[in-house]
Amino acid sequence: MFEQRLDRVRTAMAAGGVDALMLSVGPDLPWLIGYEAMALERLTMLVVRADGPATLVIPRFEVPRVVERPEVFSIVGWGETEDPVAIAAGLADGARLAAIGDHTWSRFLVSLQHEMPDTAWIGAGAITGSLRATKEPHEIERLQAAASGVDRIATALQGGEIPLIGRTEADVSAELGRRILAEGHAVVNFAIVAAGENASSPHHHAGDRVIKAGEVVLCDFGGTTREPEGQPGYCSDITRCVYTGEPPAAFAEAYAALQDAQSRAVAAARVGEPAESVDKVARDRLAESDLDQWFLHRLGHGIGVEAHEDPYLVSGNSAPLEPGNAFSIEPGFYIADRWGARIEDIVVSTDDGPLALNTASHDLAVVEA
Ligand code: ZN
Ligand code: ZN
Ligand code: ZN
Repeated sequence: MFEQRLDRVRTAMAAGGVDALMLSVGPDLPWLIGYEAMALERLTMLVVRADGPATLVIPRFEVPRVVERPEVFSIVGWGETEDPVAIAAGLADGARLAAIGDHTWSRFLVSLQHEMPDTAWIGAGAITGSLRATKEPHEIERLQAAASGVDRIATALQGGEIPLIGRTEADVSAELGRRILAEGHAVVNFAIVAAGENASSPHHHAGDRVIKAGEVVLCDFGGTTREPEGQPGYCSDITRCVYTGEPPAAFAEAYAALQDAQSRAVAAARVGEPAESVDKVARDRLAESDLDQWFLHRLGHGIGVEAHEDPYLVSGNSAPLEPGNAFSIEPGFYIADRWGARIEDIVVSTDDGPLALNTASHDLAVVEA
């Protein structure tokens, strides 16, 4: 698996004229070799030559953490008094164009630029972005496992098994987090709980606000799956709304339009469809109900080892969806100081049509507890 990924990376490097790829912290590295660098001032960096070896430069005492894959990469451990930037620069020696990991700290890039004055630089996303966006069958299986885990939590929420009325948003958020971990995730990436008027802020931070009867509660949560050592985790991301009591007609109507917009957009997410036109399908449907002005963000984002990655479903991205793309479809409406709603599923575009990984009900559940 990692060997094939490295082959694909080298092919893309050759096509882009990139002589060396240099990856540190961030999701590219675990995706490519199954090792996640510690986010420390001590440099860990994989140097991949387009026409040569791949070498992981790593603090010597962290070498035991690495699951070794000698057929994919070799390891150079550096001692406390050595200069790891000089070692990485030496491995990339002569590169005219180098691609540096998008999440690599600028202090390392600045030092590398000093060591390699004749090298031009681009972001590694130009190489890895489209490769990571095209999921392998194993990756879709892990995304499905992640989605099924949060689906069970959403279903519990809709069934009233997670009490809401009288609790703070933060308390409910903490419970969602515990459930995410119990559902096979190693990390909680976020657990947004937004009640009533707070649901009009798409990225509301769950706080001390106490949830009352008779309001919408928007929950958007996800994490990264726990995997065997040396295998990267994959992300989940779901949004469902419930109402603590019977919703007023105005909200129920707006929600019904949103539900229709979301399912139309999922159906439109076919291979070959430009990413931006899927966004437009949802936006046009919301316009029919005068809600498009309150749809404040893009329709969706790719998902994989990273919670947000290529492809982005947004006006301006005319790239057609490809088989194996995995992305969120998450239209919403956000009416300031009043209320808001969002419905989010993870969807894979396949040759057999769009495949929604999340199957928890899209209906507006009424919970009384
Ligand atoms: Zn978001
Ligand atoms: Zn989300
Ligand atoms: Zn999302």
